[in-house]
Amino acid sequence: MATATLSIDLDAIAANWRALDRASSSGVQTAAVVKADAYGLGITRVARALAQAGARRFFVAVAEEGAALRQALGPGPQICILSGHMAGDTEMIHDLDLTPMLNSLDQVTRQLEALPGLPFGIQLDTGMNRLGMEEAEWEAVAPFVLEAGPELLMSHLACADDPDHALNQLQLETFLAMTDGTGVPRSLAATGGILLGPRYHFDLTRPGIGLFGGYPFENAARVVTLSLPVIQSRIVQAGEAVGYSCTWTAEEESMIATVSGGYADGLLRSLSGKAILWDGDTPCPVVGRVSMDLITVDISHLKTVPRRLDILGPHQTVDDLAEIAGTIGYEILTSLGHRYSRRYIEGVA
Ligand SMILES: *Cc1c(COP(=O)(O)O)cnc(C)c1O
Repeated sequence: MATATLSIDLDAIAANWRALDRASSSGVQTAAVVKADAYGLGITRVARALAQAGARRFFVAVAEEGAALRQALGPGPQICILSGHMAGDTEMIHDLDLTPMLNSLDQVTRQLEALPGLPFGIQLDTGMNRLGMEEAEWEAVAPFVLEAGPELLMSHLACADDPDHALNQLQLETFLAMTDGTGVPRSLAATGGILLGPRYHFDLTRPGIGLFGGYPFENAARVVTLSLPVIQSRIVQAGEAVGYSCTWTAEEESMIATVSGGYADGLLRSLSGKAILWDGDTPCPVVGRVSMDLITVDISHLKTVPRRLDILGPHQTVDDLAEIAGTIGYEILTSLGHRYSRRYIEGVA
């Protein structure tokens, strides 16, 4: 079988959640952000493992993700929707017991008219200018909205992965000014915010990427291994080129392995000629262009042709690969395609 294997260590995800839970100040609830199919790793298995580890509140981007998550978790855990309450969401929010994080007065009105008395939170914009009500708007409507009893006031940091960025402190002060004295539970920190320290933790933290072993959670347990089967190997002579557009030419006789996996699987074309694959502890450079389904690798220095080569593993993390591709770990993870055979590792620890 030429299908590559993506191994996802659910024990490592659980361990990362517990570590971030310990890093959150005492008395602070640690939620889990599992939007975009749990950052590409599969929401059903990942969310169940997190619930088992102790997570009681989950965040997703849109109501449809919330519906899939409710299916996976059953009744009980709280499911919060970051896009709030959009037209057409009412029935899902009601029937599946979802909690929308409302972003505008329009959304507040929709919620209170359609689902009076049901739980909701409010998202405030403190300087990122992406989602949530801005200071002036909030000031005008806060008395009315607070009267309706939001269960959470939240905001999001734009630069939390850079502890020295001046906007962190500014957003913190703005958040305090907008929420002090309301008596409503508050949340400001995602993974980066947790690491900025207790002043950022408030009542609830919302880690995502850290659960999956990504930067800026440096001490995370490694979660993914991606192993690509070798389909064929061949000797190329000095002067012969490999792959589309002949971007790599052998300087000497070389052994080239062709592995199954390409940009259609999220192994970005920008990795061409730059990424490294691994035969155990031995690095093997990618040569030529990454194509849709295939990558070519120089294995001249290996004694035998391996059955598979790893592109994600102990020697090359999601963040390492992101660095080579000129992107971030979040994008590598969420781009991992649907052709892999996903293997979940659980119950080992
Ligand atoms: C994605 C997201 C998170 C999680 O962020 P990470 O950096 O992955 O920890 C938390 N809150 C909001 C509003 C988000 O959009």
